[in-house]
Order: sequence, then structure tokens, then C-alpha cells
Amino acid sequence: MLDVDLSFRRGSFDLEIAHGFGEGVTGICGPSGSGKSTLLALAAGLLSPARGSIRFDRQTLVDCAQREFVPAYRRRFGLVFQDGQLFPHLTVSANLLYGWRGLAHGQRRFTLEGVTALLEIGALLERRPDQLSGGERQRVALGRALLYSPRLLLLDEPLSSLDTRLKAQILPFLKRVRDETKLPMLYVSHSPQEVAYLADQVLQIENGRLVP
Ligand code: ADP
Ligand code: MG
Repeated sequence: MLDVDLSFRRGSFDLEIAHGFGEGVTGICGPSGSGKSTLLALAAGLLSPARGSIRFDRQTLVDCAQREFVPAYRRRFGLVFQDGQLFPHLTVSANLLYGWRGLAHGQRRFTLEGVTALLEIGALLERRPDQLSGGERQRVALGRALLYSPRLLLLDEPLSSLDTRLKAQILPFLKRVRDETKLPMLYVSHSPQEVAYLADQVLQIENGRLVP
């Protein structure tokens, strides 16, 4: 599915990863500063490796030797960060439809009704992000990423800013997304419990390397 073989350097930190990510949910764990977010940013196209390649379903996204680089907006990967990063001036429904509107009809895998039902956010559609709880914001961010009909979901500690109660509330939604959409996901978390609950396989990263 996603095949990476790359090096990336930033100051004294260097990341060197060769791995084929499979279908389902791949959990990525590791200490703070080990390179989890950097790996997701490389996959997303927000960073460019110094060496190597990234392929998705045999499509070349990055090939440093050939000077190929598919920009982030053309990879059609969904991203969810720790703090939902919703557009503050837009309503929930405008946030949800932000990426969806730009898709051709044939690319749309989900409907607004389907996603709001899945994540139970139908009652929030007219609100603005500052009128939402943390858990609601994360569900909207996830809904927006889904409506974008991504080929891959990249989740960077999507629950770590939330308290235990909210985490317990949202984890079942994520599991439902996994089971009902079959979207492949890379799920970064420093919580082994979260990862054990959701992931089909778990990778450990330390100092920019996968631990064998
Ligand atoms: P993780 O997500 O596992 O906590 P990161 O991928 O964010 O780790 O960071 C990997 C390394 O890169 C760390 O040494 C971190 O300090 C450094 N780093 C992360 N972001 C930046 C940045 N924007 N500028 C400079 N260094 C950074
Ligand atoms: Mg991080």
C-alpha cells in the first residue's frame, strides 16, 4: 500500500526508514522526538526527504533520484492532527465540506449525511469551532478528513489533547471508521492502550529508526 524507503535530516536529528505499510490500521508508537510526526509529514508531502522514495499502490509519490515529488494536495491523503485545526471562521458544516467540494463526483466516497451519522455530529452543523468541546472538534476534524475521500488517513495523536473520558468516547468512533470504511490508516500515538485497541499492527520508532 504505502512503501517508503527514505532518509531525512533536520539539524542533529536524522530519520532513516524503509518499510511497506499494509492495509488496515498501522499503529506507530515511540517516545517524544523519535520522528513520528516527521514520518507522517513525509508521507503527506509536507516535508521532502533528502534521499529515497515513497510509493502508494505502485504510484510514485517521491523519487529523489528522478527528482519526482507529488505535492501534498495531489496525494489525496487525509490528515488529522492533535488539535483538529478546524477553520475558526467556518461553521462545522462548511468545515466538513471544505475538501469535499473540490472533488469530482466520482471521487466522493462518503456523504455529509453518512459521515455526520457515523460520528454523531449532526446536531453541531451550524456551530462554529469555538462553540464545540475538544471531543466534538476532533470528531469534526475526522469527519472533514473522511469527506475528503482520502486514499489513506494519517492520524497524528488525534486524541492526545483530550482527557481520558473523551478519549474513551471517541475511540469507538475511530474503530467504527476503521471497520465501516476499510480506509488504510497510519495512527500515531504515544498511548499503547489506544494503539492496541485500534491497530492491526504496531510499529515502534526510536531515534528516527523503526525498532525491529
Ligand atoms: P515526534 O512526533 O515523535 O514527537 P517529531 O517528528 O516531531 O517527533 O520530531 C523529530 C525530531 O525533529 C525531534 O528532534 C524534534 O525536536 C525535531 N523537530 C520537529 N519539528 C521540528 C521543526 N519544525 N524544526 C526543527 N526541528 C524539529
Ligand atoms: Mg509528534
